[in-house]
Amino acid sequence: MKKFLSDRNFYIYKYIMKDGLIVLYHSASGVYYNLKLVPNEPVDYYIKLSESEIHLNKLLGRTIRMKITGEMFCIHCHRKVKKLYNNGYCYPCFVSLAECDLCVLKPETCHFHQGTCRDENYALNHCMIPHYVYLSYTDKSKVGLTRAGRELARWMEQGAIAGKLLCSVSTRKVAGEIEHLLTEYVADKTNWRKMINTHFIDEDEFASTYQLLFEKIKILNVDEIEMVNHSRCYRFFYPMDPLYSQSKLPVSPASLKENEEFEDTLISLKAHYLIFKNCVINMRRYQGYMINVSY
Ligand SMILES: [Zn+2]
Repeated sequence: MKKFLSDRNFYIYKYIMKDGLIVLYHSASGVYYNLKLVPNEPVDYYIKLSESEIHLNKLLGRTIRMKITGEMFCIHCHRKVKKLYNNGYCYPCFVSLAECDLCVLKPETCHFHQGTCRDENYALNHCMIPHYVYLSYTDKSKVGLTRAGRELARWMEQGAIAGKLLCSVSTRKVAGEIEHLLTEYVADKTNWRKMINTHFIDEDEFASTYQLLFEKIKILNVDEIEMVNHSRCYRFFYPMDPLYSQSKLPVSPASLKENEEFEDTLISLKAHYLIFKNCVINMRRYQGYMINVSY
């Protein structure tokens, strides 16, 4: 194997097979941060490593090889560590960063007003600012909340095929309280296995659930709520190899093992899952891992 082009962590290898056939393949190594999702039809997926990005849509139908080396780095402070917490953080960051606090998962438990927020600056930029409560469609209709301006990103991250804003409020905590009240009428969780194979929305059910929630919020006795009237319904299409558009996609999870090469054909992408011909990989689990991707 001969390396003939190098851009720091991104290499193209020239590989000469035994029968004389020349095959070129690309290889990139780095710490895996996340998937970058760009709204498009279909959604554009990029795998983000330390210093490179790989456009995954172009790799549908191709064999991809992935390997973790066992080295791990905190995605916040970049320290090399032996163990990661909360999908990519070192222990000191996990117990001290505001974004690792429990109230991130349960916004209605926000404790900023008690003066116990881990990082006031973080809260002022992320929590004490306008938020939306929305209805999206993942494997079914589901209620959720997001920082204003992040709604498209939020919907793509959860693999929603539709999303529609309900109301706007001034803080994450109030959005969380409203979301919590609405769980009496609609789910707030997604069944990821079903989500992977949900390509069509139950239009009548989505419209009637939206109407129901809209009416329920309107009669809440909270004066800072601003209803989003005539909200646009956003639709999302995810990359899929057309060969598999009629098939049921696999939902058995695979995991990457240290220094063991994983190899399979990429057939679709949705939420933070890479969907292969035989299994799916939840890329969230590998945030902070040193990873090698070749194709
Ligand atoms: Zn750290």
